[in-house]
Amino acid sequence: MSFPPHPVHLVGAGPGDPELLTLKALRVIRAASVILVDDLVGERVLESALDGVAPLPRIVHVGKRGGCASTPQDFIEKLMVREALAGERVVRLKGGDPLVFGRAGEEVAALRAAGLDVVVVNGITSALGAAASLGIGWTDRGVDAQGVLLVTGHTRLDCDGQDWDAIGRVAASGVTLVIYMGITRIAAIVDALRGHLPADLGVAVVQHATTGRERALRGTLGGLVDLVASHGIGSPAILIIGRVTEAARIAARAGDLAVDAVRVTNR
Ligand code: SAH
Repeated sequence: MSFPPHPVHLVGAGPGDPELLTLKALRVIRAASVILVDDLVGERVLESALDGVAPLPRIVHVGKRGGCASTPQDFIEKLMVREALAGERVVRLKGGDPLVFGRAGEEVAALRAAGLDVVVVNGITSALGAAASLGIGWTDRGVDAQGVLLVTGHTRLDCDGQDWDAIGRVAASGVTLVIYMGITRIAAIVDALRGHLPADLGVAVVQHATTGRERALRGTLGGLVDLVASHGIGSPAILIIGRVTEAARIAARAGDLAVDAVRVTNR
């Protein structure tokens, strides 16, 4: 046992492209002795970050996806505490940014309650990665974009916990809506938003953003459910709803797409 224990690092792996990892993340990953990895961490991120490291750290996969059977959160927290108290250099690697729908708050609290220091290392959250891939300007003055709202399509208590009516009103004021974890509930979400937003409002959907498997679609709110279904888009995907999507690179490349899909070919 080493005293005091090393701080536990909660590290953002970014959206998937290994080059989108921060230098600080790279440094702590390479210095780790144990890495607990979420299943949304891009396949190539860890492999690339550990290139040439010897001996390799112990890697524990603690996936949790969309509320399905997965490693329970309190098991993950206990494991981190146990490893850190045993003197290990623990990195908890999460997709995107650990503080954006990443349960980092709960993990920070659990680690601090065990007397451990915690360092959070930012990652690029998947929505920002997706927007960069498509050339979406969040604050595009050309469409008078007022701001951005990041919301989850899947709340903790139950799936109807989100006040889509209030969210729709905010979006109607010119705020772009970004929905994480929204694919499985997309029909109900669109239905609720349609009370406040027009059917021809631009939308974009990006699956596996910034990876070699990225798929990006652009369309309208009224056609969004069909668009996602007909192209078989599943998790993980980001929904972007707002006029900023109308000027996205994806459209410029494919000509004047009303409701259609193209594959982004920028890599
Ligand atoms: N902490 C993460 C979000 C975790 S919640 C972040 O900052 O990005 C999980 C949701 O993130 C997924 O359901 C999906 O909506 C989104 N997501 C994560 N990685 C993604 C990717 N590469 N492409 C598109 N969406 C992604």
